[in-house]
Amino acid sequence: MSNQFHNTLQFAKSKDLADPLHHFRHRFHFPKTAEGNHSIYFCGNSLGLLPRTVHRALEIELEDWQNLSVQGHGKARTPWFSYHEVLSLSLASLVGAKTTEVVAMGSLTANLHSLLATFYRPNTTRKQILILGQEFPSDRYAIESHVQWHGLKREEVIVEMIPEAGELLINPDRLIEKIRQLGESLSLVHMSAVHYYSGQLFDVSAITKAAHEVGALVGFDLAHTIGNVPLQLHDWNVDYAVWCSYKYLNSGPGGVGGIFVHERHSSNPETLRLAGWWGNDPESRFTMPQWFTPKLTAESWQTSNAPIFPMAIHRASLEIFDEAGMDALRLKSIELTNYAEFVLRTLAHDLPDEFLTILTPSDSSQRGAQLSITSRNIRRLYDFLTENGVVVDWRQPNVIRIAPAPLYCSFEDVWCFGQILSEAMACVIQH
Ligand SMILES: *Cc1c(COP(=O)(O)O)cnc(C)c1O
Repeated sequence: MSNQFHNTLQFAKSKDLADPLHHFRHRFHFPKTAEGNHSIYFCGNSLGLLPRTVHRALEIELEDWQNLSVQGHGKARTPWFSYHEVLSLSLASLVGAKTTEVVAMGSLTANLHSLLATFYRPNTTRKQILILGQEFPSDRYAIESHVQWHGLKREEVIVEMIPEAGELLINPDRLIEKIRQLGESLSLVHMSAVHYYSGQLFDVSAITKAAHEVGALVGFDLAHTIGNVPLQLHDWNVDYAVWCSYKYLNSGPGGVGGIFVHERHSSNPETLRLAGWWGNDPESRFTMPQWFTPKLTAESWQTSNAPIFPMAIHRASLEIFDEAGMDALRLKSIELTNYAEFVLRTLAHDLPDEFLTILTPSDSSQRGAQLSITSRNIRRLYDFLTENGVVVDWRQPNVIRIAPAPLYCSFEDVWCFGQILSEAMACVIQH
């Protein structure tokens, strides 16, 4: 890797020139620094940037509401009654599913509650649930409350996979071993496919296979995976997945989330769903039947009338992904993150030993567009970066997450970031 990259502005510019996706950055609004310049935005894993097409997409819905009022359900330019359907093709391609296996709805944690009701069904022998140590807290809280809801004790049924003593990352082979070891006591594996803190990407297919072999079900949280790494959820036989759309998918704060449910579950009328009228078969939805008849697709997990404004934003954003294509994005992402790692290692080379540590795996097949770093005086580095026009993410207790999202970040951004970081380090070392 190191011989093909150079830590120079000229090299970074030549990479941008050769990058077929470079022009996509002009489709987004960048926050400005105090001096009025573009920020270097490496925080798309927390909140993606605003696509320039969003204002118009929202205006269209406001106009239709203004002009058509209730008739907009059937007569809006995109009828509201079936609006969610226009998102399914893009979502299906992002996660590798059939259009009937995905739906844009609700928000991540609420959707997770609903899917846990379907997929976490402990019985006397099979009640354990395997999660990751240091998993994002919302997932842990949701799971803890389901365990309590079933009258079980957290200590007895939740098994946490943590790194081995002295290691920073979870060993993927140990994770598979753990699943086999839990065997027929294991009810469900629920985990992030990309870990929010370390940026570690797991082998979704291998984990799913191992869990199915012992008769357990598997669900993935794709908050940090969708729009970051290509997936094949259908072929990998994953049982369910949940995600939010405001991180790599750039669909705005609190934007509409989404779910995947494998068709072998959704096509079965016996599958338990926490129901609402929007999940009822649309053929009979407005005849107001007294009892629930699920549409036999992922849409049956919808409970409420769908949120048009967040979906209009989502649609504008997904159109950009359709155009760029996930495979091309992943190719650029690997190169861009490798370059960021190269720049960091070049800086670290001139520093006292162990001054800077990269937590994220070095192997690009085990990470997406994220590097989590820690160092001495890391909080001061973070403050210096922030004051100098670099937007990165701070995580307690001592990690900076850097996410060069390939849709709008450039090689020049990475090079500039390296320059600013090296100034920051010089300051921190001197003082
Ligand atoms: C961002 C994130 C969430 C956020 O959940 P919301 O319900 O959208 O607030 C949940 N889980 C993980 C792993 C996340 O990274």
